[in-house]
Amino acid sequence: MKISVRNVTKTFGNYRALDDVSLEVPDGELVALLGPSGSGKTTLLRIIAGLELPEHGNVFFDDDDAARRKPGERRVGFVFQHYALFRHMSVFENVAFGLRVRPRSTRPAEPEIRRRVHDLLGMVQLDGFAERFPSQLSGGQRQRVALARALAVEPRVLLLDEPFGALDAKVREELRQWLRRLHDEIGVTSLFVTHDQEEALDVADRVVVMDHGKIEQVGSPEEVFHSPANEFVLGFLGQVNRLEVRALRGEPMFAPRPYPDLGATAPQARIFARPHQVGLAKTQPDGPAFPAKVVRVHAAGPIVRVELASEFGEIRAEISHDRLRELELRDGVRVWVGLLEYRVYPHDGAAERLG
Ligand code: ADP
Ligand code: MG
Repeated sequence: MKISVRNVTKTFGNYRALDDVSLEVPDGELVALLGPSGSGKTTLLRIIAGLELPEHGNVFFDDDDAARRKPGERRVGFVFQHYALFRHMSVFENVAFGLRVRPRSTRPAEPEIRRRVHDLLGMVQLDGFAERFPSQLSGGQRQRVALARALAVEPRVLLLDEPFGALDAKVREELRQWLRRLHDEIGVTSLFVTHDQEEALDVADRVVVMDHGKIEQVGSPEEVFHSPANEFVLGFLGQVNRLEVRALRGEPMFAPRPYPDLGATAPQARIFARPHQVGLAKTQPDGPAFPAKVVRVHAAGPIVRVELASEFGEIRAEISHDRLRELELRDGVRVWVGLLEYRVYPHDGAAERLG
């Protein structure tokens, strides 16, 4: 089922948590809502679920105005960051809960409940855990029970609020791959909140980037990463070097090199390059480049991260181990920094061009 949010505004006291937000989640997609803490993600999810009312605007499920339905009638599955399982109930009873509380007329018979719960536990790979209690499970297992419980009522929409936020890094990564595969299997329209850009880029069909109660960009993971709409999105989606320089026709000028006579006429600009877009060389390369000194080399990992100091401030580069050996980099070595790719933003904001 498609979710449409139209011009939703929500204020708490005089704080505007959502400011005229419109968003479409197409049927069957897995969409990540990504933004820093306090940007309004949970508020938007709660409004879609019907747990919170907007001051202005509407939520539609397909073409049905959700405001006319109570939360219980919306058929929304909700998974929270903190497991929120019933501690005194077994895994089986936690998953069965949503079916057992239905009115008698729509409640499945006991054998049907048992069949459904066991199917769901199989789907979340917890066969054989039905009789355990939540305290006898790991964090990752508890979140899988929470997901099975949310799916038990066959929701038309699944909403997940930082579902893996409380887990350690390795389990988070496993669970997000697992969520992706599960989504491909069942295809329920899903909206997934996270403040972790890697998680969003990794699992989602589409990423919605939020800041201060507004949507800054909606796009595929590739689009938001490689073609960020503005400085906020660029900075939020990964590390980036930011250089305050002069630019002429979108070309950065590292005056007095290499354009000594143009410096005075060039406007101020901000140049952005991600660490993997920074090249290092022993001698001055073609294109925009400036000298720098190696401050620190981090070689423990599949790529080498290099910190450098330059007249434009601190620079971070990512290079291969082969390149590290060729360049013989050590603390204190002087090298040339070249920008393989970069973005120029004039001081008034919008992106000018991608180098
Ligand atoms: P996020 O989930 O992106 O971290 P939230 O939607 O939880 O952000 O919150 C957005 C803003 O609204 C925050 O500044 C938060 O303090 C405020 N807020 C959220 N819920 C309430 C509430 N019930 N009462 C007052 N302020 C709230
Ligand atoms: Mg939140």
